[in-house]
Amino acid sequence: MHVAIIGAGLAGLSAARQCQAQGHHVTVYERSSGVSGRMNTRQTELGGFDYGAQYFTAQSDRFKKEVADWRKLSWVMPWESRLVKLDHGMTQSSSRESQRYVPVPGMSSLAKQLAHGLDVRLEQQVQALEAHGDQWILSVKTDEVPVAASAGPFDAVILAIPPEQASVLLKDKVSFSNKVSEVRLQPCWTLMLGFQNPLNLEYDGAWVENSRLGWIARDTSKPDHRAGERWVCHASHAWSIEHLEDDHERVKEKLSKAFHEATGSPIQAIHALTHRWRFAQADVPLAESHLWDKQKKIGVCGDWFAVGLEGAGRVENAFLSGLAVAGAISAA
Ligand SMILES: Cc1cc2nc3c(=O)[nH]c(=O)nc-3n(C[C@H](O)[C@H](O)[C@H](O)COP(=O)(O)OP(=O)(O)OC[C@H]3O[C@@H](n4cnc5c(N)ncnc54)[C@H](O)[C@@H]3O)c2cc1C
Repeated sequence: MHVAIIGAGLAGLSAARQCQAQGHHVTVYERSSGVSGRMNTRQTELGGFDYGAQYFTAQSDRFKKEVADWRKLSWVMPWESRLVKLDHGMTQSSSRESQRYVPVPGMSSLAKQLAHGLDVRLEQQVQALEAHGDQWILSVKTDEVPVAASAGPFDAVILAIPPEQASVLLKDKVSFSNKVSEVRLQPCWTLMLGFQNPLNLEYDGAWVENSRLGWIARDTSKPDHRAGERWVCHASHAWSIEHLEDDHERVKEKLSKAFHEATGSPIQAIHALTHRWRFAQADVPLAESHLWDKQKKIGVCGDWFAVGLEGAGRVENAFLSGLAVAGAISAA
């Protein structure tokens, strides 16, 4: 079968590798200029910032096995971090004990490794799916050409994109389109701070309480990340929802203040950048591992599927969901 995969985040790439291993001909469409989606690294003159996913853990045996393979290839390393709970400069030890991993030298490098050997078309946004007999034609937009071009025909299509974006493409096309449109990803504002010298703080990351921030991490404490002093700060979901449409300068000012209050450090950053994730993480995931319409041969996967794990909106959910939808294609 010729399979089109929309989205080159971890779910799309794991589905693509699995479909290719099963002997299918696979083409991946990605609207950004690089792969990795929300597992991304922002390059700056001070070095990279992992400004989406911070680290990942492994609950399931299948993902543990994959992570062990990635470790052997030196694609990921354990992050031996000192993590605490933080409230207005007061630290408390955290009871969240699990092995945390990070791709090296930056979060986006794992997706770049996984994309090797795949036909990934970058800067190609899929805008519509058109039935063509029992196959599918994609309408694909690039920045260079003002009108969308047709791609295909494909025997099957997998959407590995957030539910808000998938439901636009799937409207009235598949049996499960209502289910997709019911899932919401919460937004998250991110602040990236670079400092001249190391801050005198005895932890590498913290869950922040009673603050506009929910999480802060010393990016440069991660293995193999370039030297320097860089911190990534995620606003709480509640604050991000309330301030979703604020301008970047205002958010930078508010979150920088929150960083100083939370850490108690008065040192000013020499570099500050913000990013708004409109679709960050699902709070109520779908209970399944993926969705698949066997008549239409359209599937959906992503981190917003629970895949039998506790919680969702994580790297492990994305990986397992990608494998699951690829399994459904093979069964078809
Ligand atoms: C702020 C933040 C913090 C996080 N922290 C953690 C953490 O600490 N640990 C953890 O495990 N997880 C974390 N996550 C979640 C983790 O990043 C995701 O679970 C995972 O990256 C999702 O992968 P995905 O492939 O499902 O989706 P995505 O990574 O979103 O990939 C979807 C891809 O599809 C592309 N796309 C969208 N629409 C189209 C279209 N029409 N045509 C072509 N391409 C399209 C997008 O550009 C994107 O590259 C965090 C996420 C955020 C945002």
